[in-house]
Amino acid sequence: MSTIAENIAKVGARIREAAQASQRDCAAIGLLAVSKTKPAEAVRQAHAAGLSDFGENYLQEALDKQAELSDLPLCWHFIGPIQSNKTRPIAEHFAWVHSVDRLKVAERLSAQRPAQLPPLNICLQVNVSGEASKSGCTPQQLPALAQAVSQLPNLKLRGLMTIPQPTEDLATQHAAFARLRQLQDSLNLDLDTLSMGMSHDLEAAIAEGATWVRIGTALFGARDYAQP
Ligand SMILES: *Cc1c(COP(=O)(O)O)cnc(C)c1O
Repeated sequence: MSTIAENIAKVGARIREAAQASQRDCAAIGLLAVSKTKPAEAVRQAHAAGLSDFGENYLQEALDKQAELSDLPLCWHFIGPIQSNKTRPIAEHFAWVHSVDRLKVAERLSAQRPAQLPPLNICLQVNVSGEASKSGCTPQQLPALAQAVSQLPNLKLRGLMTIPQPTEDLATQHAAFARLRQLQDSLNLDLDTLSMGMSHDLEAAIAEGATWVRIGTALFGARDYAQP
């Protein structure tokens, strides 16, 4: 068994245990493999070991990998910061975007989504930790943004996404994820997705209702940004 296949088995066990601990059906929790900075070969191994959904942060890197892996039936998710002049290739080459945080980007994605493709699945990224440096809309901006995005014709607003400030403190992890769930509930839209939880905090995210956990390091090992 490859290291990646072993890691997938370990992460799968963590997801099942966390689901069981909070009496959730683990079938409702998707594993999104975050393959940024990792070679196409690592994605190929993860697919061979049973994964189908992959998340990428950097557009050009993602497009290169998609071209190399076009023989595989993969579902690609864009999860990184979005420059508004780079929306077209995102609209054309992804099934999901988890990192929409302003209306201008959503409008462009809708206008540029090719007519022959199904609507682009969208999560709105919310900054629940209040750090000035992080992307994501504020909780105050969210209701108007969600209302507007839900009306765009070629998008399907699915839910919310967050990247809380990293912490080992479990109570703080839970509080951030619970906040995202409460914000989602308060919108009164028909939403089914909470994209939250990474390698170090997936248990807390699942306890608070995550439907996608986005896992990089625990599947593919530490990232080396010096040699992408
Ligand atoms: C890199 C990244 C992840 C994966 O983080 P790990 O800690 O490596 O599991 C998840 N979500 C987003 C948005 C990321 O940029």
